[in-house]
Amino acid sequence: MPVDRVAIIGLGLIGSSIARAIGERLPQVTVTGHDASADVRELARELGLCGTIADDAVAAVAEADLVILAVPVGRMADAAAAIAPGLKPDAIISDVGSSKAGVAEALAKALPGHAVIPAHPVAGTENSGPAAGFATLFEGRWCIVTPGADASGDAVTAVMSFWQALGAKVETMDAAHHDMVLAVTSHLPHLIAYTIVGTASELEEVTESEVIKYSAGGFRDFTRIAASDPVMWRDVFLANKDAVLATLQRFNEDLTVLQQAIRRGDADKLEDWFTRTRAIRRSIIEQGQDDAAPDFGRKH
Ligand code: NAP
Repeated sequence: MPVDRVAIIGLGLIGSSIARAIGERLPQVTVTGHDASADVRELARELGLCGTIADDAVAAVAEADLVILAVPVGRMADAAAAIAPGLKPDAIISDVGSSKAGVAEALAKALPGHAVIPAHPVAGTENSGPAAGFATLFEGRWCIVTPGADASGDAVTAVMSFWQALGAKVETMDAAHHDMVLAVTSHLPHLIAYTIVGTASELEEVTESEVIKYSAGGFRDFTRIAASDPVMWRDVFLANKDAVLATLQRFNEDLTVLQQAIRRGDADKLEDWFTRTRAIRRSIIEQGQDDAAPDFGRKH
């Protein structure tokens, strides 16, 4: 199933990165972009992001073989409803949402009779908007495709091939399993970072200027994640509520174990735990999911 024309709905970090990656890696593919925000459309035109920027969602998808919804998870249903009247009958609709089961359900409901193949590129930064994107964002990163049980094999292959062409490594997964895995690897770390940064900045015994001045002790590494887009993350936690709460329960139990070890002076427990976590960092580097440079490669 060849993909010659792609429409991207939502031209923020992820949508604009897809447009840029297509421009570099699939120059023969025609790209039309649309964003609900007139300011974003204007900036996208100035940046030369897509061949055409459409003011209207229906016009944006009229010719598309593949439509990618790159809007916040809580806006997927609206975005799907807006494109529905303009879709070609054989168009494939995909998305990039960070949670999958709820989005898959919303898209299937809004687009009955269409091939809906949800996907999630596990790649991003703490920045948002069209100027934040870059063509290499997906290179060497995973994209998880979560087709429903009745998905057409050709449509699944088309979406997988598309992401591979943008440089991603692709895997398929059940949507509910995706949501549990990402609750552990992405959603919980974001929640912890949001908590730590919020708590530290509110501790009355320590001034905010001291928190910032001495942040190199570890705090600043959490601030990168805690600077992530508030709307995007609000929607992720609301959409993936069950998996996040289950993971959070487990985290609280483990935190209590460490709290006890500190209170009881259990040095072995603490050392064993920290030895295990250090090994996980090494595995991430070995599998090419981060750089081996110490301190994230910061200049000293
Ligand atoms: P972003 O930079 O905030 O861009 C989203 C864009 O979509 C905004 O310009 C927004 O406009 C626009 N939009 C909102 N509702 C719309 C609608 N109904 N129709 C058309 N455009 C609409 O967000 P992002 O970081 O690219 O995230 C987009 C999606 O990718 C989210 O579902 C997120 O979960 C997923 N994702 C993000 C990351 C990451 O690290 N950022 C990684 C993987 C996946 P307004 O600002 O005017 O609302």
